Amino acid sequence: KRLTILAMENYTTVFEETGYYLGSGAFGQVDLVKSFAGEYFAAKKLKTILDTRRTKALREYKMVTLLTHPKLVQMHLAFSGKQNTILIMDYLWGGELFERLVQEDYIKEVDVIVYVRQICEALHYIHFHNIIHMDIKPENILCDSPNTRLVKLTDFGLAHVLQERDDLRAMYGTKEYAAPEVLNYEPLTTGCDMWSFGVITYLLLSGVMPFTGSNSSEVSTAMTLGKFNYDEPAFNNISHLAKDFINNLIQPRPACRMTATKALEHKWLKEGPSKGFGNN
Ligand code: ADP
Ligand code: MG
Repeated sequence: KRLTILAMENYTTVFEETGYYLGSGAFGQVDLVKSFAGEYFAAKKLKTILDTRRTKALREYKMVTLLTHPKLVQMHLAFSGKQNTILIMDYLWGGELFERLVQEDYIKEVDVIVYVRQICEALHYIHFHNIIHMDIKPENILCDSPNTRLVKLTDFGLAHVLQERDDLRAMYGTKEYAAPEVLNYEPLTTGCDMWSFGVITYLLLSGVMPFTGSNSSEVSTAMTLGKFNYDEPAFNNISHLAKDFINNLIQPRPACRMTATKALEHKWLKEGPSKGFGNN
């Protein structure tokens, strides 16, 4: 794989704006753009007036470009300028998995298995390469098209490469999905993605978050203790295997959590109702 970082003045000679906005986050927005060859791409435009921001944006570009997996949104090139950095990646026109959840309140177990397996494959691959994503949530899982169940993981803006003797501590993205060790500023491992993955699985099946409380400190306490239940009515028809899968991910002690390798071998994913993608 080759890294291609071009000067910003080249941007308008290669891409034209469509005026169609795809989404946004903390440091900028993502627009649909068209190459002069007629292909559509997603352009993640980051405000990088500070050098540290630009370094981070280019780090995201390099990290994603050096990874190749069908369950990761691919990046192609970057434009770097004084004010902005633009990252060009494949356009996924199916929207966020989050939007699918909102439309349907919760997602049927047979479909959740299909999504969860793909997310797990992405996690397995990045963890094998010692990368922690740090922001696993349904907004960062994109659907390939509106009429299939193909999804890909994106947004490596907070991702971190674990190095030997690295003492990495909290830099979390979204508190609701963060593992206790992230909240409590303890050393991190790839396990923190697995906790968030468990929270997502719970959320997809039920439409609600596992941890509740009347204020944020109560919620944090429940998270630290790993205290949650399946009282939500949506769980009445959910298999024991699904609950066992979640129980093995939402474990306060990182060492007690399933790894992505173990999760892929879990009966729920291995013997689940449907292994197919698309419309089947
Ligand atoms: P941030 O770090 O700002 O959260 P993301 O990379 O998550 O940036 O992008 C923000 C949003 O833009 C996503 O949640 C999604 O809705 C949309 N988006 C990002 N990348 C793409 C893409 N390749 N195709 C379609 N939509 C995208
Ligand atoms: Mg995001």
